[in-house]
Amino acid sequence: MRTPVTLSAVVPVYNEIESLPAFHAELVEALHALEVSSEIVYVDDGSSDGSTEELEKLHLGDPDTVRVVVLRRNFGKSAALAAGFDIARGDLLVTLDADGQDVPAEIGTLLATMDREDLDLVGGWRAARIDRRAKRWTSRGYNAATRTFTGLDLHDFNTGFKLLKREVVEEMPLYGEFHRFVPVLAHDLGFRVGEVAVTHRPRQAGTSKYLSLTRFPKTMLDLLTVLFLTRFADRPLYLFGGVGALLSAVGFVILAYLSVLKLATGAGIGQRPLLQFGILSLLVGVQLIGTGFIGDVLRHSASREQVPYRTRRTLAPGQDPTDPLDGDA
Ligand code: UDP
Ligand code: MG
Repeated sequence: MRTPVTLSAVVPVYNEIESLPAFHAELVEALHALEVSSEIVYVDDGSSDGSTEELEKLHLGDPDTVRVVVLRRNFGKSAALAAGFDIARGDLLVTLDADGQDVPAEIGTLLATMDREDLDLVGGWRAARIDRRAKRWTSRGYNAATRTFTGLDLHDFNTGFKLLKREVVEEMPLYGEFHRFVPVLAHDLGFRVGEVAVTHRPRQAGTSKYLSLTRFPKTMLDLLTVLFLTRFADRPLYLFGGVGALLSAVGFVILAYLSVLKLATGAGIGQRPLLQFGILSLLVGVQLIGTGFIGDVLRHSASREQVPYRTRRTLAPGQDPTDPLDGDA
């Protein structure tokens, strides 16, 4: 197998007392079967149902392998994952839900796919999804929208079952509901992203922590943010300036037409709705161009701390510790 590899299973837990014991037993067995050194990192995301004490017990049973982060309150799944990644020691990280919907025994499938297809991130595609109809539909709409707008050809962007290389999580901004966009953001940073079909089971116990009716609009808004961040964050002026220029042009043409009308025929234009529309259009357009400029200036100042590219490796001695050619000379 891989040399020397450590795999960290990172599991966010929010009031999962009923699922935890069975899930833990299954996860331990699955990791054991893999023959790679591994650990489990549970993140208690502000549970109030006794999950915290249960996790403490699991930790005491095997203190070095079962590590637990207890958050002060419920910070949400993205934040919980970020907390887990921060203390995880593995070069590879696999995330699973604690409710038993993901099958721990399939971690091996993710690992094999990563190896075979030389990927940096492998998602578990829930080909036959076991959830309520409303959730399956919203999820389908969301996946189709994400596929169209991002150009990343995956079936399942939302899966909680993912295997990632450490480099990927180190560059991930994980706040709000951004865990849903990890594949999109990783793809944007130049990582190789793929997926493999996995089994999806019904929730083993307890209830879903999300209301699908409120989740869908929120996720769609998040998708807008992600699109903006991946497409226009480098040049905000292209977006704002583009729309602004269009509106200004429309406003200018309208006002020019009305001016000519007034001068040539002496017709009264003061009461015409078109006049108001022209003025509004020109004003908003100019404002938007200004907003774009401000965005560009902010981006320019921030660029001093960031590089505008991401390197896979550098073939030059002494440049890159992961360089396979490095040190051979
Ligand atoms: N979760 C969490 N914090 C939250 C909400 C959920 O850590 O604020 C965890 C939850 O305990 C579970 C996983 O995230 O392990 C997925 O949650 P859930 O199964 O409720 O989502 P669904 O499968 O219904 O989409
Ligand atoms: Mg679930």
